[in-house]
Amino acid sequence: MLGAEPVAAPGAITYFNRAVETLDPDALQALSLQRLETLVAEVGAENAFYRRLWHQAGLSEVPVIRSRRDLARLPLTTKDQLVVDQLEHPPYGTVLTYPLDHYVRYHQTSGTTGVPIRWLDTRESWAWWTRCWSFVLRAAGVGPGDRVMFGFSFGPFIGFWAGFEAASSIGALTLPGGGQSSKLRAHLLGDAAATVLVCTPSYALHLAEVAREEGIDPAATAVRTTIHAGEPGASIPATKRRIEEQWGAVSYDHYGLTEVGAMGFECQAHPGGIHVNEAEFVVEVLDPDSGEVAAEGEGELVVTNLGRRGSPLIRYRTRDRVRLVRDPCPCGRTFARLDGGVRGRSDDMLVVRGVNVFPSAIEDAVRRHPSVDEFRIEVFRQDHMDQVRVLLELHAGSSAEERNREVLTVAEEIRIRLGIRVDALAVPEGTLPRPELKAKRVVRVDAMGPDPS
Ligand SMILES: [Zn+2]
Repeated sequence: MLGAEPVAAPGAITYFNRAVETLDPDALQALSLQRLETLVAEVGAENAFYRRLWHQAGLSEVPVIRSRRDLARLPLTTKDQLVVDQLEHPPYGTVLTYPLDHYVRYHQTSGTTGVPIRWLDTRESWAWWTRCWSFVLRAAGVGPGDRVMFGFSFGPFIGFWAGFEAASSIGALTLPGGGQSSKLRAHLLGDAAATVLVCTPSYALHLAEVAREEGIDPAATAVRTTIHAGEPGASIPATKRRIEEQWGAVSYDHYGLTEVGAMGFECQAHPGGIHVNEAEFVVEVLDPDSGEVAAEGEGELVVTNLGRRGSPLIRYRTRDRVRLVRDPCPCGRTFARLDGGVRGRSDDMLVVRGVNVFPSAIEDAVRRHPSVDEFRIEVFRQDHMDQVRVLLELHAGSSAEERNREVLTVAEEIRIRLGIRVDALAVPEGTLPRPELKAKRVVRVDAMGPDPS
């Protein structure tokens, strides 16, 4: 692949590799099928995990992949299989294509949804990760001359490690936020005149709060672009709007998974969704009811990464619910889009009085109210059914009467938008956690729950 394109005029659409990103859809598919064929041949010969999986699926020899129909003959891979594989073959499992001494990077998943998975990368696959992130940054208009602040702790969670390397590889100055409190990060961001902030959506809001406490007006800083991952927030309209207002910046959503790669990004046309990098990933959509897999439509996203040969995933069930569309985007890219971003994880979906509810939909209703600084969704069992209660931390300075009114207004907003009745309660300022990494805003509690007053 090529390096970053030259610096573009202000306001112009920027690409990492324009030729590939705007390729005719048939040519794009031919390109990815070619890479897929090579990948499957190598994995089928060398990778113990896939050799076993495909053998169990009744494939007596390594299949030759020339079309999407050929791909559909391969079984799906699940996260549970990876977890079991690592438990049975500690510490890394058997998804490694090469001997261990070929691997140079160790990372693990954040563990927000269970046992963390460990993941290794070779030099080549790490370079591929970095390249995938370069697409993300260039699509957000980031390039030489930018100063990119990473609000991230740089521990074993893969988070923004590859983003950090990609930013320097495309000529931007990188500002690491590891080993610092939020106060120190706010000052570093201000002193270094960061132009770009990369962090989770929740943390962008928290850092804005801390900056203000430190006498730094986030909207008056040099930050003009924010890029977010780890939670769906930057594709939730009300949350996105709030981040943009707080920072006086334009926000971009990014979608990636530790075990898969940096696969999605928002472009400068902001069509209300995320492009999937189809030069580096093959995406399919699984209908959870029928079990049918299609090239577009609504359901669970299934992904194959094409450049991580040392630890590949082929037809991996992400558990993320999406609507994959292929209509043209004003930015000129021919990559498919996840309309509205990632709508939620299959694991997170709540069923409240028979209505399917993603926490992201509740977030969109709650964040429409500027008086709410932080919130938590509590789920509890009552009469053998899941019930939801929303705890709201309201902005200081309002009277008890105003708070009560606001709480009712938020509950009504949720009822109108989602069609479910929930209890909403105000909690004292500063009682709800401010996450740095992935926010855990959905909490299961006993029927009575903690006394919120
Ligand atoms: Zn676009």
